[in-house]
Amino acid sequence: LGPTITIGEILVEIMATDRGAGFLEPITLIGPYPSGAPAIFIDQCARIGGSAGIIGCVGNDDFGRVNVARLRADGADVSAISTSPEFPTGSAFVRYRHDGSRDFVFNIARSAAAQIDLTPAARALIARSGHLHVMGTAFAIPGAARIIEHAITAITARGGSISFDPNVRKELLGQAETRARFARLVDIADLILPSGEELFVAAGMEAESEAVQALLGRNASEVALKRGADGSTVFTRDGRRIDCPAFAVEEIDPTGAGDCFGGAYVACRRLGMPIEQALTYANAAGARNVTAKGPMEGAGTRAELDAFIAATPERRT
Ligand code: ADP
Repeated sequence: LGPTITIGEILVEIMATDRGAGFLEPITLIGPYPSGAPAIFIDQCARIGGSAGIIGCVGNDDFGRVNVARLRADGADVSAISTSPEFPTGSAFVRYRHDGSRDFVFNIARSAAAQIDLTPAARALIARSGHLHVMGTAFAIPGAARIIEHAITAITARGGSISFDPNVRKELLGQAETRARFARLVDIADLILPSGEELFVAAGMEAESEAVQALLGRNASEVALKRGADGSTVFTRDGRRIDCPAFAVEEIDPTGAGDCFGGAYVACRRLGMPIEQALTYANAAGARNVTAKGPMEGAGTRAELDAFIAATPERRT
């Protein structure tokens, strides 16, 4: 039916080489690493062999070229990435603290990432797409709403499907408009991929099984719960529960794990794999990605993930 597409921020990440608090004194930084949740998702989707494309905007600068070159090399359709003549590519400076939390300096709102628009190229990509993956992070970009709405209408009209990663920034959920968009996606998505507390926010209730059932009572036929170092679980509307233990890896950089998990899961399901197999690849994609510095440096091809699965034991709980 056509590629999986997503919409939203394409960024570079510049990260501190050591752990510590903030950026108040000179520290050593490395990068630029291609980043942005939708870009990480679509890169993993393409790398594993799914047909994939992204609607986004970069600046006319090296940070933008780094991203487009990576996505193109990994097999993603980059025809709907526009170039802002005026704004620089969005960026995120990141430093991990010793407890694993992170300090950020973002440049997104006043960057090219916030200039995405329903360009003729974006319309053309949407018109040939078979699946829309909506990233909650894109709700932070005002222009994304119109494109997402257009894509929902066009793709559902062609008989395509929708997935939703409810990774919306917490402070945005205070706004009535964001909450309404969030609720709408929860209502219409065929697949929902929450991690941590997002499940409870999405379902509006506190107990895991009740929250999952609430989501499966809407349009979703599958809910894929991401549990970090504890692996993941898929619940289906017809009452199945498939648990997948995590792979035992050393976590170097957890950024991007959920996006790689989602990209692999959506791509594998769309390639026709059964849930068990798709979930194993998704778990492997998330785990492999945390072993590498940089948000999408650990995304894997199918062959790389097969080798990773063969070589990596499961974590014992
Ligand atoms: P998010 O990045 O959205 O918070 P998670 O942290 O739950 O998502 O990571 C997504 C998936 O990646 C997990 O369900 C798991 O399969 C894998 N993963 C993440 N962190 C680890 C880890 N430390 N060890 C093994 N697998 C991991």
